[in-house]
Amino acid sequence: MQMITVLGATGSIGVNTLDVIARHPDKYAVFALTAHTQIDKLAEQCQQFNPQFAVVGNAMLADQLQAKLRASGCVTDVMHGVDALCQVSNDAAVDTVMAAIVGAAGLVPTLAAVHSGKKILLANKEALVMAGGLFMQAVADSGSVLLPIDSEHNAIFQCLPTDYGRSAGRNSGVEKLLLSASGGPFRGMSLEQMHSVTPDQACAHPNWSMGRKISVDSASLMNKGLELIEACWLFSVPEQSIEVVVHPQSIIHSLVQYSDGSVLAQLGNPDMRTPIAHALAWPQRIESGVANLDLFEIARLDFEKPDMQAFPCLAIARAAAQAGANAATILNAANEIAVQAFLDQRIGFTQIAAVVEQTLNSQTISEPESLEAVQESDNQARLSSSAFIKRLEK
Ligand code: NDP
Ligand code: MG
Repeated sequence: MQMITVLGATGSIGVNTLDVIARHPDKYAVFALTAHTQIDKLAEQCQQFNPQFAVVGNAMLADQLQAKLRASGCVTDVMHGVDALCQVSNDAAVDTVMAAIVGAAGLVPTLAAVHSGKKILLANKEALVMAGGLFMQAVADSGSVLLPIDSEHNAIFQCLPTDYGRSAGRNSGVEKLLLSASGGPFRGMSLEQMHSVTPDQACAHPNWSMGRKISVDSASLMNKGLELIEACWLFSVPEQSIEVVVHPQSIIHSLVQYSDGSVLAQLGNPDMRTPIAHALAWPQRIESGVANLDLFEIARLDFEKPDMQAFPCLAIARAAAQAGANAATILNAANEIAVQAFLDQRIGFTQIAAVVEQTLNSQTISEPESLEAVQESDNQARLSSSAFIKRLEK
């Protein structure tokens, strides 16, 4: 029986993870579930999965949830705050941690799981983007098994040779990683046409149903930029070895090109339960609830180059990957602030790129030697991007 903590249980990835877990009560049990504010949803999940612990954002919410659970006869103990998130991530009873908190808030609890050598199912790409060097070093030091949940990275993982990690990629014949991108809801639009798009339009993804932050990132292609950086860390490749391929049907989730001319791809219906089930059961396979792929119904697969003029975020992220050091930390922090400002209707969609670029230009690029240095960089970038946004609002 694998004991699992789900960080971010009430989110889109969290809910899909619990859907897969519920299909295999003989294999998986839930140790802890966490949320930030959605306590009603978390209460329902606790009633269904009976975890030992639930964690929420603050003491008041914890009291409310605890009372609710006791009234319904549920024995789950409720805690709150970052220390509690770390506690349920590194508890000795836990085998596997699904890291599905959105944004930089996921870094510290995910690192707690890494340091204690857990199997990590990584959805929270921002944690890896902002602290890649430290994160991967911690994985190597602890012997933690890191499995990608992001559909593209999970696809690449499936297409790489099984000993790729152990040989650090040497002599593997891998030439290039081809990262699929759906193009998002604004594919085919010009920059001018995107000036007046609304948060709801940005969140209406054609193929995937996801949280609002990643939906906006998908619309701006910043998500693909973050994924490019994520892939550099996960697979130890330079950014030049990764090409973004726009594939609007989202059936091929990514590909690996080999030196003998072979290209391996992973295909499937766009449903996150496939990569979640793959990582949960790896190296075995389990049923995920996803419908079989019907190639006759799909009939055709299209590919195009990304429009770099209309989607400047992709080039900005690539430049940050090239710059290395803390550039990705700054990029990620500025993007989180800008996306929130767009969702709050304080700035326009096309101003997200401007805020991120200005923030990157305003900060000192230096190698962060510690977690504190990463957090300091993250903090400075948040202050600077918030100031840019204030000026834009005037
Ligand atoms: P959601 O917004 O749907 O869910 C986020 C989860 O994190 C919720 O449980 C939320 O709690 C919790 N949370 C939010 N803020 C905090 C905080 N400050 N501290 C602790 N917990 C917090 O996001 P998604 O599920 O869409 O995405 C989660 C991660 O997975 C992201 O990093 C995303 O990039 C990545 N990902 C998502 C994919 C998808 O299909 N959705 C695909 C690939 C990657 P509450 O509900 O209480 O607010
Ligand atoms: Mg993805």
